[in-house]
Amino acid sequence: MQTDIQLPAGMTIPDLYSGISAAGTHPLRGELRQHEPMQRHVSWRAGGSVDYFYQPADLEDLAIFLRSWPEDKPVAMIGLGSNLLVRDGGLPGVIICLHAKLNDLVLVEQDEQGGLVYAGAGIPCAKLARFAASHHLAGAEFLAGIPGTVGGALAMNAGCYGSDTWSLVERVTTIDRRGMVCERQPEDYRIGYRHVALHETVVSGTPDIWFTGGWFRLLPGKAEASRQAVKALLTARIKTQPLGHPSAGSVFRNPPGDHAARLIEQCSLKGFRIGDAMVSTLHANFIINCGHATAAEIEAVIDTVRDTVHRKTGISLIPEVRIIGQRKGSAQ
Ligand SMILES: Cc1cc2nc3c(=O)[nH]c(=O)nc-3n(C[C@H](O)[C@H](O)[C@H](O)COP(=O)(O)OP(=O)(O)OC[C@H]3O[C@@H](n4cnc5c(N)ncnc54)[C@H](O)[C@@H]3O)c2cc1C
Repeated sequence: MQTDIQLPAGMTIPDLYSGISAAGTHPLRGELRQHEPMQRHVSWRAGGSVDYFYQPADLEDLAIFLRSWPEDKPVAMIGLGSNLLVRDGGLPGVIICLHAKLNDLVLVEQDEQGGLVYAGAGIPCAKLARFAASHHLAGAEFLAGIPGTVGGALAMNAGCYGSDTWSLVERVTTIDRRGMVCERQPEDYRIGYRHVALHETVVSGTPDIWFTGGWFRLLPGKAEASRQAVKALLTARIKTQPLGHPSAGSVFRNPPGDHAARLIEQCSLKGFRIGDAMVSTLHANFIINCGHATAAEIEAVIDTVRDTVHRKTGISLIPEVRIIGQRKGSAQ
């Protein structure tokens, strides 16, 4: 824990750490940092700082933190930051990072029909894929290629090679802004291609409900067959994706019946560069950081690609990556 930090007005470290929580008897056990550079926590290795950065010790600690955090200060939740860009001007409030924190991984049941695995939101997707394979369960192999957490995969409905996260989900646990933990069913969500939203937040407009874990229903399989499938998938990725450079994977969703990468390549944008941000020459839907790209450079490449593709083909590409925070120099 760092102690030389300025908390929001009216709040002190002892307040936060001894919990202005309900009973005042549960001190916080996680790590709180101030002015944390988010380039340390996003796969693009670029962008600004967040006022506060919190890594909870566990679910109870997360609940206490959320209850204790001032209501008017924004909260965002992240996993491995592999689909995220924080603008250079940073953002106010707190980013809570669950990676490696909510990390239960349990085989709940298994029979000849398959099995049910519970994974906490902080578990890396690849770890869930390996865990399932080692228990002779099939269906989670595709997750091995997604460099994010279970929480991020649930939020994005991450997927590849014809599979996606929510096709495996039996139910999830969530936590809200008041630290209330709740179990929810897939029917509670509107689920689409790289899109997930709670029906109730679509109506109320409040998105401050986050995933803390999920139960994944898997089919019976063979450990060796799953390992081979993972190996083939990773080999294909190494050949087709610029994994040697920081990126956030595919920047745009594929439009119906087409591929964003094909359209970007057709518009001769491979290699298009602003500063150190460049459209990959290997995979046109990846924008790579060639060295010291700023978030502004990355966003300018995203905007140029979207505008050019629209002008030349009439198709509007929709970004898959999430962009948060303020531009440098913009008013707070
Ligand atoms: C090289 C590379 C390859 C990739 N390949 C693929 C691919 O094949 N398929 C694919 O779908 N994606 C791919 N991605 C993108 C990315 O890995 C996925 O979107 C992943 O699911 C993001 O997980 P994360 O934990 O990193 O989420 P983050 O980037 O940390 O967050 C992404 C979004 O999810 C939200 N979020 C994170 N955790 C939670 C939570 N617990 N509760 C609620 N909201 C939360 C964040 O607020 C943010 O809006 C790739 C990325 C890279 C860098």
